[in-house]
Amino acid sequence: MNAGFDSHIPEDWLENYAFGKLSAQPSAIVEEHLLICASCLIHLDEVEEYIALVRAAVLSMNAAVSQLRPVKKGSPSRAGLRVLDSVLSLSSKYSTT
Ligand SMILES: [Zn+2]
Repeated sequence: MNAGFDSHIPEDWLENYAFGKLSAQPSAIVEEHLLICASCLIHLDEVEEYIALVRAAVLSMNAAVSQLRPVKKGSPSRAGLRVLDSVLSLSSKYSTT
């Protein structure tokens, strides 16, 4: 039934879930697992806290950059989100947990 993962929710699933990027079916599997697994719930808290920190850092970075030069209208946050994604994939690569 839980075909998505073996025992615990993988890091990248939690990150995508926290980003709201996980599609409906895996989201349901994650939510079902979170109901019964305190350790993954704590892990999700940590991921969300970390994302909030990185997001705040990227936002303030964007603000600093836009003060230096006007941001092109249309997609001012796209570059920031790309940075965020690569920071997150790096962080999971070097994660000590
Ligand atoms: Zn778990």
